[in-house]
Amino acid sequence: MCRAINFIGQINKNMDTDSGGYFTSSTLFKTSLLTISFSTIYLYRSEKAFQFFQPAAIKEDTVTAIQLPAIKVRKKKTIYLTFDDGPNKGTQKLINIIDAEQIPATMFLVGEHVYGSREQHNIYDSLVCNKFIEIANHSFTHAFENRYRRFYDLPDSVVNDFERCADSLQLTSNIVRTPGRNIWRTKNISSTDIKTTSAAADSLLTKGFTAVGWDLEWHFTNDQRLVQTDSQLLRQIDSVFVNKKTKTADQLVLLAHDRSFFSSTDSSALHRLIIELKKLDEYNFETVSKYPGLGTQ
Ligand SMILES: [Zn+2]
Repeated sequence: MCRAINFIGQINKNMDTDSGGYFTSSTLFKTSLLTISFSTIYLYRSEKAFQFFQPAAIKEDTVTAIQLPAIKVRKKKTIYLTFDDGPNKGTQKLINIIDAEQIPATMFLVGEHVYGSREQHNIYDSLVCNKFIEIANHSFTHAFENRYRRFYDLPDSVVNDFERCADSLQLTSNIVRTPGRNIWRTKNISSTDIKTTSAAADSLLTKGFTAVGWDLEWHFTNDQRLVQTDSQLLRQIDSVFVNKKTKTADQLVLLAHDRSFFSSTDSSALHRLIIELKKLDEYNFETVSKYPGLGTQ
């Protein structure tokens, strides 16, 4: 706009002041200049009119101000983090990591361990109150304190031991994990790693329990230290999925033990693993009760 006005003003100035000069010598030339001037004004106004009908430019801050509702995207693969044998000296470190990362986990507790000390009972109380943690049954005596053969040779005693744990801890879930044995008894899966325990496993199912084993274990040594590094376990998780080694497609139950995370080095490894798994953005995390065929889906 400023350029157009200045241009016309300059022409008028020349026409008014340059009498007898070059411009005043030709009327035809003046007429041509006037034509150009009016054409310029017309074009300028036309351009403004065109701009008037253009949609208003969308400001960037208008776009960012629109907030879409958060939608939880369900990814294809699911990992069930499960921790056995608590409460014990590694459990509090687990709780801290789960709270920090806000991911669901299932703790298979041993009844006797809840009553082992005041500290263990206090940890149990905090597990009950934790919204990320699901509590499940790992028997009351942990197979007569690791006397596995004798324990599983007595199917009725096995059932009694799990019922005692359920009653003592007032568990509402019927999900159990058998001590020292990878046994599955669900609607869809029947699997027993050591066949001599089949009768006991069947008795549990008959009495209304659902036994959930595991697809991959984070092993530990006799002095309660982790065997695989977090990087190794990350590769194993990927390999189990890729090679379809899980009991149910795209569902992986990971077994670990509370006491193997007592040292800061090993609890840091667990924390790093969870952070890396979350970063990959291809896994859901769920509690075991959400596993397909366990009656909650
Ligand atoms: Zn155990």
